[in-house]
Amino acid sequence: MPYRTCRTGCIVLKNVDFGESDRIVTLYSPDMGRFSAIAKGAKRSQKRFVNKLEEFSLLDISYRPAKHNRLHFLNEAELKEAFLSLRTDWQRYCPAMLANELVLRFTGEHDPDSRIFSLLHWLLESLHHGASPLPAVVFFHLHLLDACGYRPGLEHCATCSCSPDKNRGLSFVLQPGNGTLLCSRCSGNATRSRFTLSLQSLKFLQTAQGMTTKQMHRLQMPENVASECLYVLYSYSKYLLQCDIHSWSFLSQITGKRTGGKKTGE
Ligand SMILES: [Zn+2]
Repeated sequence: MPYRTCRTGCIVLKNVDFGESDRIVTLYSPDMGRFSAIAKGAKRSQKRFVNKLEEFSLLDISYRPAKHNRLHFLNEAELKEAFLSLRTDWQRYCPAMLANELVLRFTGEHDPDSRIFSLLHWLLESLHHGASPLPAVVFFHLHLLDACGYRPGLEHCATCSCSPDKNRGLSFVLQPGNGTLLCSRCSGNATRSRFTLSLQSLKFLQTAQGMTTKQMHRLQMPENVASECLYVLYSYSKYLLQCDIHSWSFLSQITGKRTGGKKTGE
């Protein structure tokens, strides 16, 4: 009986060498979600796979579905877009790596969400075409959390309902346990922590939450604000995932001290 062959479009999240000549790739596709496949002979085959299975590549693949939860078998890969600049420019590589890792960690296997695929594709394309890296990855991170059911509630304090706009003397923290804001009056604590958001950052995040990817270019976010937003989103995600996010150590090199993990008052 002939094997069934399927096709899908996908983005390469990760690849690892396996044995002497094979490679295992982790992919995200709009109709399959996250899944892994083995590319037999990928390290030898000049025709089928060479330079195609690198991180960030947008592919059209033909594969043989796995039986009994094993790895899918990759027959062929057609490279639609390599996004080469993301692998050669550190300023673009770091946010792209963070995005890949967040998709890897926040999504389940075979749990497709076309919004997540579109969001990742948008980010890689935007970085490749020269979008400002930090605001773009803030937008990505915020909307990924939304797609995964962890949208932070940033409009008002969850306890007294006061709005940051009308209470500029107060400071606000994102409560990682439920993703809502708490004002310093309700918490009785004005000390800054890794979850503290300045009024400016809060406003940018609120605006970004209401925007689509097509509108995002209108958002002019200063680098220091983008860094603060990223640091709080990273801290929130680390809390949700209960594990470290390895690519953060790269990204923090380009976002400066605010995200360098040396803050006090945690
Ligand atoms: Zn309050």
